[in-house]
Amino acid sequence: MGTIKVQTENIFPIIKKFLYSDNEIFLRELVSNAVDASQKLKALASIGEYNGNTGTLRVEIIVNKSAKTITIKDSGIGMTGEEIEKYITQIAFSGAEEFVNKYKDKVDKNIVIGHFGLGFYSAFMVAKKVEIFSLSYKENTKGVKWECDGSPEYQMEEITSKTERGTEIVLHIADDCSEYLEENKISGLLKKYCKFLPVEIKFGVRKEFIPTGEKDKDGKETKKEIETDNIINNPNPAWTKKPADLKDDDYKSFYHELYPMQFEEPLFHIHLNVDYPFNLTGILYFPKLSNKLEMPKDRIQLYCNQVFVTDNVENIVPDFLTLLRGVIDSPDIPLNVSRSYLQADSNVKKISSHITKKVADKLEELFKKDRADFEKKWDDIKVFVQYGMLGDEKFYEKTQKFALLKNTEGKYFTFEEYENLVKGNQTDKDKKVIYLYATNIAEQHAYIDAAKNRGYDVLLMETMIDPHYINHLEAKLKETAFVRVDSDTVEKLINKDDKQESKLSEEEIKNLQPVIEGVVPKEQFMVVFESLSEKDAPMLITRPEFMRRMKDMNALGGGGMNFYGNLPEMYNLVVNSNHPLISRLVKESDADKKQTLAKQASDLALLSQGLLKGEQLTNFIKRSVELID
Ligand code: ADP
Repeated sequence: MGTIKVQTENIFPIIKKFLYSDNEIFLRELVSNAVDASQKLKALASIGEYNGNTGTLRVEIIVNKSAKTITIKDSGIGMTGEEIEKYITQIAFSGAEEFVNKYKDKVDKNIVIGHFGLGFYSAFMVAKKVEIFSLSYKENTKGVKWECDGSPEYQMEEITSKTERGTEIVLHIADDCSEYLEENKISGLLKKYCKFLPVEIKFGVRKEFIPTGEKDKDGKETKKEIETDNIINNPNPAWTKKPADLKDDDYKSFYHELYPMQFEEPLFHIHLNVDYPFNLTGILYFPKLSNKLEMPKDRIQLYCNQVFVTDNVENIVPDFLTLLRGVIDSPDIPLNVSRSYLQADSNVKKISSHITKKVADKLEELFKKDRADFEKKWDDIKVFVQYGMLGDEKFYEKTQKFALLKNTEGKYFTFEEYENLVKGNQTDKDKKVIYLYATNIAEQHAYIDAAKNRGYDVLLMETMIDPHYINHLEAKLKETAFVRVDSDTVEKLINKDDKQESKLSEEEIKNLQPVIEGVVPKEQFMVVFESLSEKDAPMLITRPEFMRRMKDMNALGGGGMNFYGNLPEMYNLVVNSNHPLISRLVKESDADKKQTLAKQASDLALLSQGLLKGEQLTNFIKRSVELID
């Protein structure tokens, strides 16, 4: 008999209350202890400190529904009575008290959630009574039984019944925690926390006792225990092995082991292996993302010596890499602290920048090794790379050498290659190189076509993140501007000094202007005359680059553009003063015919932009039929 020296009458109700939302971690703690004890024995045997037979160092978790117990059993180093007194009664419990005193007044649950190493006493979060049966590996020691019901009193006695080396922790599950006696609950927790523990974990369920129909020597009917046993972990996961010992297929099958619900193959992997200035191993995968950029449920998992800690890795890996998958295992990430502390931790910062560097290196290696393959993967990895380039200066510096631009013909270029390609023909009169781009090949087809006929190249910038990326590149690349291909007439997209002469006089334009203004809504269209080529369309719609960008940024909610509120849709209706049809329009003397012709031409311009709808479209079709007649 003894008394645990604590000030608080009974610390367990407090612990229970504080840890309620997270009480499942008791299993992780106790299984980790059992694994540690097994590993320690292995280590002692390897240095000759233990000469007995280690046997299979397996940890067993046994749920007994009828006895309402969970047993965690190992054949590790075990504990003597003195050691239980020291490690369990004194250290563990003083740790418990310290914990309670520290967090008693804090309401911040995160502190508790992030806490790791709650240790042995976390058993009391779910148990009304805990028994320890232990036999040390040391010679000439006796078995011991320790028992405590959560009050500061405990009992300890020597026993002879424990004949196998190791420790058995028996939890008598509290009535309000009976969910932990469910097979699915425990196997779920074991799969979550123990999937890759370095020692075999066996899960057994003693379900019920059914009569065998036979009688024993005392005449009592014997009963048979129905039991199930499963090994639930892989003690040697891929990330603990040497990259040289693994083939591509091993990485792929480990990916599916991590994410059983993922059927797509990953694009490629990065094996992390660092031992200075911190310890870190792991494998990161670039997944093939579906078109919709939904936040993936399958996230990077963080382990501490093969014990699962969390898959909430925000602030541990750089933001843009939270889209990756895989595992990171590090004993150096401080896990027993709150998230806000983690953000400021210098080890975490180093780890984060190391991972960023590794990812950039790997991408560069892929690019250099097999450019064609890199191009094939580019559309899938582009979003990670862009996200990283936007958010991390160092990452930008590294990746700008091999980040690709894709044009509307599906060809890929590095920044340098692209500059060389377009510099000659797409430099405007102010010496700016103009990068033309489209966001939708089908919708902007006419404009892309016109630009190509001019000998211009057009990039494809179609993703959500592209508007931000374009702004970023304009700030980074010198003397370069991005202009969307439909933001102006092809003549003016790239402002050179080679103006075409207008075939119309100022007088003629002045007379025609009100006619055309009369056929389109004033508040939406500004009518402008331009001297384009005869081959260009008679009329076309453009939308100034700056207007559209503001709209885009507004829609994305970024860039502090919200004060513009709901911007109206404003377009230019450009009249090509050199087109023969416009000359005909000028010469037409019948006012009605003139108006019909102007309406038909402007409707065609609207139609090519997909802006002609409803009644307008119906009228246009009727009018077209009449004109054919
Ligand atoms: P921690 O594991 O963080 O040290 P615990 O409260 O979990 O704290 O455990 C306290 C100590 O009790 C351990 O350091 C270990 O020495 C001992 N111990 C706990 N469980 C076992 C076990 N299954 N076998 C042997 N020793 C154990």
